[in-house]
Amino acid sequence: MKQHNTEALRQQDAAHHLHPFSDMQSLNQQGARVITHADGIYLWDSEGNKIIDGMAGLWCVNIGYGRKDLPEVAKKQMEELAYYNTFFKTTHPAVVELSTLLNEVAPQGFSHVFYTNSGSESVDTMMRMVRRYWDVQGKPQKKTLIGRWNGYHGSTIGGASLGGMTYMHEQGDLPIPGVVHVEQPWWYKHGKDMTPDEFGLQAARWVEEKILEIGADKVAAFVGEPIQGAGGVIIPPATYWPEVERICRKYDVLLVADEVICGFGRTGEWFGHQTLGFRPDIFTTAKGLSSGYLPIGAVFVGDRVAEGLLAGGDFNHGFTYSGHPVAAAVAQANVRALRDEGIVERVKNETGPYMQKRWRETFGNFAHVDDIRGVGLIQAFTLVKDRSKRELFPDWGEMGMKCRDIFFRNNLIMRACGDHIVSAPPLVISKEEIDKMLDVAARCVETFEKEVL
Ligand code: PLP
Repeated sequence: MKQHNTEALRQQDAAHHLHPFSDMQSLNQQGARVITHADGIYLWDSEGNKIIDGMAGLWCVNIGYGRKDLPEVAKKQMEELAYYNTFFKTTHPAVVELSTLLNEVAPQGFSHVFYTNSGSESVDTMMRMVRRYWDVQGKPQKKTLIGRWNGYHGSTIGGASLGGMTYMHEQGDLPIPGVVHVEQPWWYKHGKDMTPDEFGLQAARWVEEKILEIGADKVAAFVGEPIQGAGGVIIPPATYWPEVERICRKYDVLLVADEVICGFGRTGEWFGHQTLGFRPDIFTTAKGLSSGYLPIGAVFVGDRVAEGLLAGGDFNHGFTYSGHPVAAAVAQANVRALRDEGIVERVKNETGPYMQKRWRETFGNFAHVDDIRGVGLIQAFTLVKDRSKRELFPDWGEMGMKCRDIFFRNNLIMRACGDHIVSAPPLVISKEEIDKMLDVAARCVETFEKEVL
């Protein structure tokens, strides 16, 4: 294995590299963590530490690290056709084959996809697409998109606007006009004395109230992650999505699922909306489509919207790398492997249920851990001040960060989203690896409760 000079890398990195979502001052003082290689669910850093990646990178390496077949496919495709675009009525075999394959794994009625390079681009594409759809329908005034507070839809101006992260809105005058938000369906915080099912209906009513406030003739779409990922793995009560769907149908508002995290097996079905029991008109994807081996995203367009767009002729939108041949070939190999090696099925029937059982057993008895939740291989708990009163800590995020640092010190990557501690490991994780990961995590939470509280 190649040797690395950690100090030199850190200094050069600090001198020349502006990092996403990083406090640059403290990063430059401490120096970045340098990851050098990876295999399965493990990462290694430049100092030789072997780290369990409980986050699959950024919720994306569904197939696990170190596959030998994907680079082979990339090499072959690069030699054959490294690049050509899909603008102006042009195509190539890699993208045709990927589209056909995606049609096989998608639920019925999603016969078309539009390619992007990232989740944010998928979201922006969807935002333009729904407005274009209503234009073609002769309803150009139907423009407003409804997102949710604490939702995450990416970092572009469109995606960051639609997302409900106020700390993103504060930087750069967001959201843009035509984007509004409703409260998230997090029972533990917002549910008061309602049962989760009652609260699910209440949270769906917030969507209805917003539609009525703006006027249904002005609302283009409601957009939500089936499970809010970066917001802290917020799993809505079972009543929520079916009721949101009913409301969207009632007012002729398009329903969009942002599946950038939930898609490609994370929840045990191919797509999160299948697990959560609703049917969107459009869903956005990226991450798991290529398991992060190359950047690619896809917007799955339901037949109703696709027919509208087709009828409209030109959709003046696209990216130089929409349907990039090498990314398309790698995505194909990844999706085939997720399907043919039974990886998605195993999440549903085996590793997902096992993780959920062990997750609850592992964290159920800590004094300051509550709202233990998860489905498939996405799970979380929340650090709380007082379980008996469902009381959160006063300075939201402070405890989460402290706890996360203990995980990092113990070579386990979990993420703190505020005081939610979340995990979404590669979907290839075995039961033994789940045990190992949770043993480390339990010791870390023990340390947190002893040393920090
Ligand atoms: N949408 C959701 C639900 C996401 O979780 C993310 C990223 O985490 C995005 C969109 C943005 O994706 P990207 O970072 O690839 O632009």
